[in-house]
Amino acid sequence: MKRICKLCLQKSELQQSHIIPKSYFKKLKKKDGKIMVIQEGKKTITGSFSPKEPMLCRECEQFLSINYEHYGIRVLRDHTNFRKNSDHIIIASFQYEKFYLFLISILWRASIAKHTHYDTVQGTKSLDDLFRLCIAQKKIRINKLSGFRLDLFVKISIFRMVDSTGNISDEIIKVLLSNFTQRRADAFRGTMWYFIVEGFIVLYNLCVGQNLHEVKTLKFLSQLTKGSHQKIMKVEITHSKILTGLFNSMIEASKQED
Ligand SMILES: [Zn+2]
Repeated sequence: MKRICKLCLQKSELQQSHIIPKSYFKKLKKKDGKIMVIQEGKKTITGSFSPKEPMLCRECEQFLSINYEHYGIRVLRDHTNFRKNSDHIIIASFQYEKFYLFLISILWRASIAKHTHYDTVQGTKSLDDLFRLCIAQKKIRINKLSGFRLDLFVKISIFRMVDSTGNISDEIIKVLLSNFTQRRADAFRGTMWYFIVEGFIVLYNLCVGQNLHEVKTLKFLSQLTKGSHQKIMKVEITHSKILTGLFNSMIEASKQED
């Protein structure tokens, strides 16, 4: 059956598309034969779990994989490219635009997905369209004339999660994958989405603000920025409300399994 591809909008045989790249699930499976996915407020899912659904045509699957995923997955995985410091790491030879759009492509897929696992991402039609356009055109700039850029409104921060108390070992931290959480962010009149992957927490801040000036001046800690190097701050799991919440729900869920 031919259906409309969500990226090129052409009628085609659609592939079973992964929302969170397959490669992230593969890595988890390799570790100990099962994967662990944290879902806030729900039981942790283990086993071979990797939600997918008809979404993209074969060409668009290839397009995402070649243009974004090959590079995007390597960025957080290639530790030889990290310069490690006590409270942060530096990622060298960083391709900002490519990596930013890689992360947007994950959020976009979660937003348009019908799978109940991704109900936590409730985007809007206009935002989804904007994401689609930027991904398809491989450009963060939305409008040539106005010079508007997507990263003016959606600011992405990444932190490396650590636990100095030693309660949660780094080996465990590095193999966790969470589902998306969506939160209203009153501080900047916007919405926040986040998920954790391979030792990092990725936060998307959709900024509305009172006016354009406010949106332009909003900066987040450990925000991705243009440039050939990217500084990623470390965050103590025990110091972050978001993370302690996520980890507590995981620990609770693992208790239920025993
Ligand atoms: Zn397509």
